[in-house]
Amino acid sequence: MDIVAIDIGGMDIVAMDTAGRIPRLQALLPAAGCDGLVISQLSNIRYLTGFTGSAAIVLVTADEAVLVTDGRYDSQSAEELSRARVTARIEVGLPPVQEKVLEEAAIGLRRIGLEAGSVSWARQRHLAADVFVRAELVATDGLVESLRLVKDEGELGAMRTAAAIADAALARVRPQLVAGIAEVEVANTLDFEMRTLGATRSSFETIVASGPNGAKPHARPSRRLLERGELVVMDFGAVFDGYCSDMTRTLCIGEPASAALGRMVEVVRASQAAGLASVRAGVAASEVDSACRTVIAEAGWSDAFVHGTGHGVGLDIHEGPRVGPTSDATLLANSVITVEPGVYLPDHGGVRIEDTVVVTAEGCRPLTTSPKDLMV
Ligand code: ZN
Ligand code: ZN
Repeated sequence: MDIVAIDIGGMDIVAMDTAGRIPRLQALLPAAGCDGLVISQLSNIRYLTGFTGSAAIVLVTADEAVLVTDGRYDSQSAEELSRARVTARIEVGLPPVQEKVLEEAAIGLRRIGLEAGSVSWARQRHLAADVFVRAELVATDGLVESLRLVKDEGELGAMRTAAAIADAALARVRPQLVAGIAEVEVANTLDFEMRTLGATRSSFETIVASGPNGAKPHARPSRRLLERGELVVMDFGAVFDGYCSDMTRTLCIGEPASAALGRMVEVVRASQAAGLASVRAGVAASEVDSACRTVIAEAGWSDAFVHGTGHGVGLDIHEGPRVGPTSDATLLANSVITVEPGVYLPDHGGVRIEDTVVVTAEGCRPLTTSPKDLMV
């Protein structure tokens, strides 16, 4: 088995600016109406501190940050925070000890924010009744996520590598696509190649959907065998250094079996090109959606484009900004988004083409660069 280093274009790998993030979050607290914020969402914790374990809570106040975790992560938390040059107090113990630490760190705080999107009702009640008894708990929405919208050079480097891994994996799998191979086998090979090429894991469950299965945008790979002349939708991504890539290519073994399939591919290709051409810092995300949707509607298939045009990507495979008809986001330079229109016709199959791109002042820079030609 060959482990191949990915060439990321000779660019120096720039360290992430993890240490600057807690101060930027602290600056947001007054406007959010709280003097402390409890961060329990793990990808937010990773973003703020560099900690990659599966259990921790961070309390950020105006003048300090405390990370509590359990004994499994004693040395790991110290190593990771120090590597990220993050200034935070680390306290290790069982949950009652962690809660005691949080309670003491919160003395004097009047309004403590919780991440409304990731704290359960039961958890909120417990924190209010047993841990932060003297403070008022307030719901906050998207504070850390708002910082995560704009990627630093280190994050972009990780995402460039994640995308290059997915590109290289597809290049290896493409020649293996022949009639008679099962969807699940293709998906397994893609996953295997991405890990061989240096991915920590796949960004999500790899989609390989052939023929009629392609008409379901999120089909699960099945034992169905690929056939000549039908379309195969492959949607997959790699995680590198915590950051995801996301790409879809639609392929065909030989010539498409019908004129309708060929036309679907042409329309989606044109739609995606229009979407990519509309991306620029300062543009409304809904405009990118409408650029894609208009092309598909003109072909008479507006009902067959059943999802939004794209989403932000980063530590999570789906994060801000949303790129859809009802999105109120304006694209920012150095946000990373996907552009992924599709057409799904139950009698024919499906087509989706997706790239992960960096938003720039002039337009966008694609991270995923696999060829978009149809036939293998
Ligand atoms: Zn995708
Ligand atoms: Zn996507």
